[in-house]
Amino acid sequence: MAAKQETVVSNTSGKPPASKDFVINLDVGDPTMYESFWKGMGDQGAITILSSQTISYFSDVTNFCWFLEPEFAREIRRLHKLVGNAVTEDQHLIVGTGSSQLLQAAVYALSPSDTPDQMNVVSVVPYYSSYAPLMDYLRSGLFRWAGDACTFKGDAYIELVCSPSNPDGFLRQAFLKSEGGKTIHDLAYYWPQYTPITSPADHDISIFTISKSIGHAGSRLGWALVKDAAVARKMTKFIELSTIGVSKVSQIRATKILKVVSDSYEHPIPGNPDKLFDFGRRLLVDRWKKLREAVKASGIFSLPEFPSETCKFTGEKAETLPAFAWLKCEKEGIEDCASFLRTHKILTRGGSYFGASPNYTRVSMIDRDETFDLFTERLSSLH
Ligand code: PMP
Repeated sequence: MAAKQETVVSNTSGKPPASKDFVINLDVGDPTMYESFWKGMGDQGAITILSSQTISYFSDVTNFCWFLEPEFAREIRRLHKLVGNAVTEDQHLIVGTGSSQLLQAAVYALSPSDTPDQMNVVSVVPYYSSYAPLMDYLRSGLFRWAGDACTFKGDAYIELVCSPSNPDGFLRQAFLKSEGGKTIHDLAYYWPQYTPITSPADHDISIFTISKSIGHAGSRLGWALVKDAAVARKMTKFIELSTIGVSKVSQIRATKILKVVSDSYEHPIPGNPDKLFDFGRRLLVDRWKKLREAVKASGIFSLPEFPSETCKFTGEKAETLPAFAWLKCEKEGIEDCASFLRTHKILTRGGSYFGASPNYTRVSMIDRDETFDLFTERLSSLH
């Protein structure tokens, strides 16, 4: 079921709610919960860029990905090594304008251009709601969205594997196993605040984003780790054709911010104990507790249950604490959970956008405290 994508802007989009009866917008996964962490870091992530800097299109002409800032690449590899969530040795690194651009670049690179048939792009239901529109909005002759991987028949496909999954939070592996099939791993949420890190990812193509790892969605940066040099070159070509590279200013700023994150673990500053992944986990532990209490108080909803596992990054047993809650309405007579919540001025993204039943809806867990607290308060009063 292909769903159209809508942009929802409301009273709480991008800013805190100003009154108790405001429309609460938890439709988009806007990672504003990280704002208070970065406020606490003061000027530690600040940079000055002179007007004479960053004029050229080029960052490193010795690299096939000539628009990748070398320092940015170094900090990305350093962060993966620190967290242990991806192998970076023998992988080509490509930067993109958000992971959204890299998903398109990867599909472009994996779709043959010398056959009349379009490549089928599939993902297991419930799949990330942007996959279908991202594949089809330009009506490409190279690839097309073909829906649920579980019902797909054939050998020519690209499976998008989102792990942990947006929307339901579970760890996923490729579902289809055909020799001719290709996979792209979207690892936007494979970070220790959301899930125990069990092993370093080592896939053909792994895609990550600054938006959900450290909360800087506005910088519009993502990166891909790609094993095959020819695929990496084709992905680079796509970015060259679509945007002639990626903002240098964003990369330079992100380099500094990433450095602050890694330094806080590798060289902790006395008196400044806060660390990004610890902050994220602490907040999500608290929020998932509050949400489960609100669901219990209401009595008409249910939530998925997750296993706990040892996280290799922290060395501790850790629960899965997804960035989204996949909420199900269990009340008889209510078929559409998102519409029901909308009547109570709570905006969420309904199940049909993810190829699933409208009994489900996706709720962002990564907005500001004020918005999240209003949400749980309002949810617990619905019966
Ligand atoms: N993949 C997944 C699973 C996501 O949730 C998102 C953001 N919602 C993206 C990709 C795109 O992220 P961005 O373009 O901000 O890097």
